[in-house]
Amino acid sequence: MTLRPTVDFLLHDWLHAETLQQRERFADHSRETFDAVLDTCERIAREKYAPFNRLVDTQEPHFDGERVILPQATHDAQKAYAGSGMLSAAQDYEVGGMQLPYTVEAAANAFFAMASVSIGSGMLTTGNANLLMVHGTEAQKTVFALNEFSGRFSGTMCLSEPQAGSSLSDVSTRAVPDGADFADDPLGPRYRLKGNKMWISAGEHELTENIIHLVLAKIPDENGKLVPGTRGISLFVVPKKMVNAAGELTGERNDVALAGLNHKCGWRGTTNTLLNFGEGKYPVNGEPGAVGYLVGQAGKGLHCMFHMMNEARIGVGMAATMLGMAGYLASLDYAKNRPQGRPMGPAGKDPAQAPVRIIEHADVKRMLLAQKSYCEGALALELYCARLVDEQHTAEAAAADDARLLLEVLTPIAKSWPSEWCLEANSLAIQIHGGYGYTRDFPVEQYWRDNRLNMIHEGTHGIQAMDLLGRKVLMEGGKGLTLLAGRINDTIQRAIHVPEFAAHADALGRALAQVGAATKAAWATGEPTDALANAVPYLQAFGHTVLAWVWLDVALAAHAAPESNARTGRLAAMRFFFHYELPKIGAWLQVVSSRDQTCAALPEDAF
Ligand SMILES: Cc1cc2nc3c(=O)[nH]c(=O)nc-3n(C[C@H](O)[C@H](O)[C@H](O)COP(=O)(O)OP(=O)(O)OC[C@H]3O[C@@H](n4cnc5c(N)ncnc54)[C@H](O)[C@@H]3O)c2cc1C
Repeated sequence: MTLRPTVDFLLHDWLHAETLQQRERFADHSRETFDAVLDTCERIAREKYAPFNRLVDTQEPHFDGERVILPQATHDAQKAYAGSGMLSAAQDYEVGGMQLPYTVEAAANAFFAMASVSIGSGMLTTGNANLLMVHGTEAQKTVFALNEFSGRFSGTMCLSEPQAGSSLSDVSTRAVPDGADFADDPLGPRYRLKGNKMWISAGEHELTENIIHLVLAKIPDENGKLVPGTRGISLFVVPKKMVNAAGELTGERNDVALAGLNHKCGWRGTTNTLLNFGEGKYPVNGEPGAVGYLVGQAGKGLHCMFHMMNEARIGVGMAATMLGMAGYLASLDYAKNRPQGRPMGPAGKDPAQAPVRIIEHADVKRMLLAQKSYCEGALALELYCARLVDEQHTAEAAAADDARLLLEVLTPIAKSWPSEWCLEANSLAIQIHGGYGYTRDFPVEQYWRDNRLNMIHEGTHGIQAMDLLGRKVLMEGGKGLTLLAGRINDTIQRAIHVPEFAAHADALGRALAQVGAATKAAWATGEPTDALANAVPYLQAFGHTVLAWVWLDVALAAHAAPESNARTGRLAAMRFFFHYELPKIGAWLQVVSSRDQTCAALPEDAF
């Protein structure tokens, strides 16, 4: 059992990815070119990533006082990834890209996430360079982005600070113009930055010739004060090593210093760093201050950063999904081979009988089917959202705008749902292994530790929930929610005529109505403190309803396919989701609708 048949089914039988070639941008593509990309990525993931997943966990990055040391396997894997051309896959032919649809890029990257999520497949580098291609100057594109696409440089995203995590408005890194000629630098208006950035992934290493940091910082006003809130935030490109306008290293180090490596619960193959900008350890031209070049307009830094958030969040959701999938496949294999216990017969158990394999026990099947329904459902959702990204960029205007709005509403789910439920899948994978699952002799505990990150970064679970209920379902007069309801109703209409699915279609219709009613009830007083007190249960109910929709739609595609074990499995996973999971939304929405204040109103001293 491998991932590929599931990916192929979802891409082609369900999402009809080959229809994308009707778009001018993708006209040179075909099922053959898509398959070739998937084949290459599957092979590199199998050869260069999977065998080293445990190694990068046990050989954490370490600092020898001068350099951060990573295992040779990480260097080899990243070289192979860059060599595949995947870093620039979505880019135009003129800059060496493949003009690959994001749907296929996301599917191809899934293989790396499953094989070894923390070795990394360049999500940060691609995101960084993609942002520069949209918001950077021609020189910034040529010097920074193109060298990132080739794998010569790598990229980071420096948003968080020790005191500013969820609340980016509290960013206190300062950027001041660097000299009288600051506006004339060929690489963009030149500033000097000072401040500390916490949690920066891939912030220091020797994997590439240079590291290109994209840094949020504030430019002080004429009184030297930082503008409060997010309005004052600007974006800067800050190379670790100085480069000239031809993209060559000048030999001078920029004033960006590693203050320390964070030692993480999981995801240990990627360095995580506290970086000091401008502390004077590496003065440039004899002066302290990290040299950074303004990207886009001053004060519009968050806007630029958010440009790439949908894809980054689909990337996080996909990573969570694939870690779940890795655990599912490992526990399926274990369950097929582990003998333990006897079946319950009419006369109880017969100790004289040989033990059965644990996959024969109903409860183990329950845990396997739960994982399958979480992870394959999440994979379908991520690919659906990736397809919306392509629609947004290449469909005609009205359809593109619908895709944009749908993505606004679905992105918090694409990021958060797999982070919670594919983590739960990892927990079930450990459970299936019994005591062995709790040891480092089996891979499943590492999957859980790696996956635990995903509810924290790229906007915590709580922040995503408030974004969904506080902003996304209300924006543009609730149009995004209405559009989503329309898509869900389309599926219901198709399913209601299939006798096997009629009850599920009905259940989905009721769930959708419950979500709609709870959204209204949450906002009935118009007070955000009432509405958002139970934002996470709302996120959970919303997410489960979306997943039930995705499963019913996938089941319609499966139903049309010839009989096979895969078809039987998909239909069972859909039924599992409707019978065991969807009913949970009643409890979640109850506290949302009644604006329950049990948690919010409890005085601190009562805890
Ligand atoms: C391994 C790892 C890699 C990371 N990589 C990067 C990176 O490359 N670049 C980068 O910039 N950052 C990165 N981050 C930072 C990450 O995005 C932050 O950790 C995250 O945004 C949360 O910030 P915080 O840790 O300060 O927690 P806090 O913001 O202090 O949150 C703590 C808890 O309080 C809750 N909370 C906070 N504010 C509210 C609120 N207003 N309402 C309700 N609940 C609230 C949160 O949901 C959370 O549960 C990384 C983090 C980790 C752990």
